Amino acid sequence: MNIFYYDIAIPIPIRETFTYQSKDIIQTGTRVAIKFRNKEVVGYVIKNLKNKPSFPTTEIFEILDSEPIFKSSDLQIISWLADYYHHPIGEVFDTFCPPSLRKRIKTDPLITSFDTTYEVIKEDKIFELNAEQENCVKELKALKGFDPCLLYGVTGSGKTEIYLRISDIYLSKGKSILILVPEISLTPQLQERFINRFGDNIGIYHSRQTPKQRYDVWNKARSGEIKIVIGTRSAVLCPLHNLGLMIIDEEHDQSYKQHEGFRFSARDLSIKRAQVEDIPIILGTATPSLQTLKLVQDKKYKQINILKRANGSEPPGFIVLDINDSKLESGIAKESLDAIEMTLSQNKQVLIFINRRGFSPLYECNDCRWVAECKSCDARLVFHHGLDRLMCHRCESAYGVPKKCPECAHSNLSLQGSGTERIELFLENYFKNTTIIRLDHDTTKKKGALNEIIKKVHESDSAILIGTQMLAKGHDFPKVELGVILNCDAGITSPDINSLEKISQLLIQVSGRVGRKEGNGKVLIQTRYPEDENLRELKSGDYLNFALKNLKQKKELHHPPYTAVSLLRTSSPLAEHNIKFLEKVASILSIESDISAIGPIPSIITKSRGNFRHHLIIQTTSKTLLNKFAQDIISSVSSWKETKKVKWYFDIDPIDYS
Ligand SMILES: [Zn+2]
Ligand SMILES: [Zn+2]
Repeated sequence: MNIFYYDIAIPIPIRETFTYQSKDIIQTGTRVAIKFRNKEVVGYVIKNLKNKPSFPTTEIFEILDSEPIFKSSDLQIISWLADYYHHPIGEVFDTFCPPSLRKRIKTDPLITSFDTTYEVIKEDKIFELNAEQENCVKELKALKGFDPCLLYGVTGSGKTEIYLRISDIYLSKGKSILILVPEISLTPQLQERFINRFGDNIGIYHSRQTPKQRYDVWNKARSGEIKIVIGTRSAVLCPLHNLGLMIIDEEHDQSYKQHEGFRFSARDLSIKRAQVEDIPIILGTATPSLQTLKLVQDKKYKQINILKRANGSEPPGFIVLDINDSKLESGIAKESLDAIEMTLSQNKQVLIFINRRGFSPLYECNDCRWVAECKSCDARLVFHHGLDRLMCHRCESAYGVPKKCPECAHSNLSLQGSGTERIELFLENYFKNTTIIRLDHDTTKKKGALNEIIKKVHESDSAILIGTQMLAKGHDFPKVELGVILNCDAGITSPDINSLEKISQLLIQVSGRVGRKEGNGKVLIQTRYPEDENLRELKSGDYLNFALKNLKQKKELHHPPYTAVSLLRTSSPLAEHNIKFLEKVASILSIESDISAIGPIPSIITKSRGNFRHHLIIQTTSKTLLNKFAQDIISSVSSWKETKKVKWYFDIDPIDYS
């Protein structure tokens, strides 16, 4: 009897694979049930071994898939991911496997069918294209094979209609399309337009669905029953039958990077997938990331522009409002209140952006300067008026509001600063009988709440919308004619090396919500730094020009994307454990000439959920070199006693240095 041997990836935090045996021939990419350390687990077959190993192996006791669930191109991508991000390969497999298949469950037999006849639903409003858009569709249509293309379309330029048109072309060629969006709950308008036009051919895939919903979409995509999948980062390897095109909407959005566990960038991974599958990929945005702009400069990506809004106007610039001598009411200057009043009187809507939720971000004692802080995090507590609680925005712990100072027992306590809730209460009082709509994490938590809010915005005439970043993301609110940005000073003056990129994108995206229909909107920025050079540059609203200057500076300063960076992050209940471990890593790197290690540095949020956090910044000239050093570090640290006292991992291509 023949015995076959297989290398299997098991979803555990160990960077190794394991060898098992079977009487059956099993294709790679198939799930199997095995015993591992006396527990029954599901593993993924990644290699068929030619020779009998020199050590004893155990038997695979069940083959779970009649057809591999990962194709050979997927296996190539997954092993690239495990190498590039230095993450245990079994956990990488698990990330891209529908949750129900992470258990010992058999897949349905695969019957593929791809019906090239599909119907465009006639009731959907199909927008006429202007000459610029027409040309854009023509150029996108000409993309062939692996051909990454930045679609730089200013806010309001009608990118969704372009996506619909190009999808139509691919569907008619018998190809399917994968569309990635940063956060599904924030893009109901894009989904709605695709569903309106292509009906049942659409599947939605994201991590807030039930395992059954996800399996269903995954299975239908695999068989060809669904031809377009719209999803978030977990959808990036969705097995669409005859995949012909990928679209990454809002490619600059930081939500594409996973912030916990396996920290991969879905944008970068989708590029890898397009390359392996040899298909075109479109990266659409009004505020391209510097990384993408560099790749355009290096001639690795194409760039197609739509510089005018669909209505023929240009996006609004900014009016900088110096608030150094202004008396603010709940954070709003008199000039802003006058402009709001004027807009409301014309029966239009106003958008107020403040990147802070809750009522007030600081509760302090005026006598001894005690400040309310979370017991398990290094974070100040935010007062929430609706809850009458002090909340930690890191760990979501709630605290009662002390009436007396816990330090000096005086009752001279006060709330400092404003968040969305305070602005809402203030404006309700100031503009009586005006519709005021707040859009933030707290008002959208409930299922369906965001859709309700969007509906209310559309149904209202004059109204004030108040919101955080969520309000800046892609929405189309045609009645908004005035934008007021309340607190961007922290972003402008932040020392974080990515902060300029982030704040410029945010400001442009906020301005993108304004004047979309009639094209005579304006945006006020309240600031204490009216002379700031960057703010002056950004004033015109020309993001691209600003970003290219920023990119040039990055080159001169040898910052990413011109160098390769990884953070080695640690956390442990004792700060000294982190420091000792990172110091030892830094000392072995100090003998190398082409690498610099900075740190250990306490992370900006030094303590989170009871653990201290520190990191080491590792910077070198190329990604290949960075990869080699990371590999060396992994093999060195595995035997150290310091390693056992900390949780550590690499954050490759970090977007957040805090
Ligand atoms: Zn006090
Ligand atoms: Zn906390």
